[in-house]
Amino acid sequence: MQQVTVIGAGTMGNGIAHVFAMNDYKVCLVDVSADALERAKATIEKNLDRMLKKERITAEKKEATLNNLSTFTALEDGIKGSFLVVEAATENVDLKLKIFKSMDALADEGAILATNTSSISITKIAAATNRPAQVIGMHFMNPVPVMKLVEVIRGYATSDEVCAQVMDISKNLSKVPVEVNDYPGFVANRILMPMINEAIITLFEGVAGVEEIDTVMKLGMAHPMGPLQLADFIGLDVCLSILNVLHEGFGNPKYAPCPLLVNMVTAGKLGVKSGEGFYKYVAGSKELTVADNFKK
Ligand code: NAD
Repeated sequence: MQQVTVIGAGTMGNGIAHVFAMNDYKVCLVDVSADALERAKATIEKNLDRMLKKERITAEKKEATLNNLSTFTALEDGIKGSFLVVEAATENVDLKLKIFKSMDALADEGAILATNTSSISITKIAAATNRPAQVIGMHFMNPVPVMKLVEVIRGYATSDEVCAQVMDISKNLSKVPVEVNDYPGFVANRILMPMINEAIITLFEGVAGVEEIDTVMKLGMAHPMGPLQLADFIGLDVCLSILNVLHEGFGNPKYAPCPLLVNMVTAGKLGVKSGEGFYKYVAGSKELTVADNFKK
């Protein structure tokens, strides 16, 4: 059985570990936080139980998936023997450069080093290693066990062979990989974030209210979720930081984040994770109520 290491056991890391373990890879999940590892194991088990209940997997598959998973708090204990390392730690350039230096020093010589970053340059991350041809973006979507897409991002130096291997690995996970080049926002966020920003500008200029904007996009464009609700789900701080990457990377004012978004992030209104963004969120409730600031 082939072994992979997943670094970071947060929202994305636990989902990535889940899909590899369910597809017969041995998974070493590494996080500096023992609590995050415990939470990840509990989340994976809960998600497997849900799949079992819906009869999408058998009880044997659930057990086998959990048996394929081991957790580690030190990278050096969970990286030897892995042919692929997928980094899904906190989105911070300095942190990722540091982690990639350690991955490069500790991983097997032939191992592929992938990152799940949403917005940091793959070429920059690769330049921190001595194996830039083996560094690649493997951008899974949230929630990982559900979403089919993997955006496979080629850095400037990524080899054809490594890219082909990562496309095949993604298919082995029953995902649909799409190969793209390394420019700010790649493809997914380069298109999604300006749409979200434009929805916020539309609200900011008083063209329409929160529910009206989301309803237009849901019913008019068949989007499963309106752009303002989606922004809350992604996290308004994450949206702002990706827009800043696009704005700085292209130097084009069309990517300038809306001042309302900047204000909301400064005020700590980050969406679902802080309990309020464009909507208010109550733990355990799926009811969608517009935040007081946007009530008419
Ligand atoms: P998160 O905050 O939920 O989890 C990050 C985890 O990384 C935490 O558990 C933290 O303890 C751990 N970590 C921090 N430093 C570490 C280190 N040195 N070694 C090992 N673990 C470390 O973050 P997330 O939302 O899962 O995002 C992870 C990555 O995935 C980011 O690069 C993000 O841009 C990308 N991403 C996120 C989403 C999303 O919707 N959340 C979607 C696509 C891609």
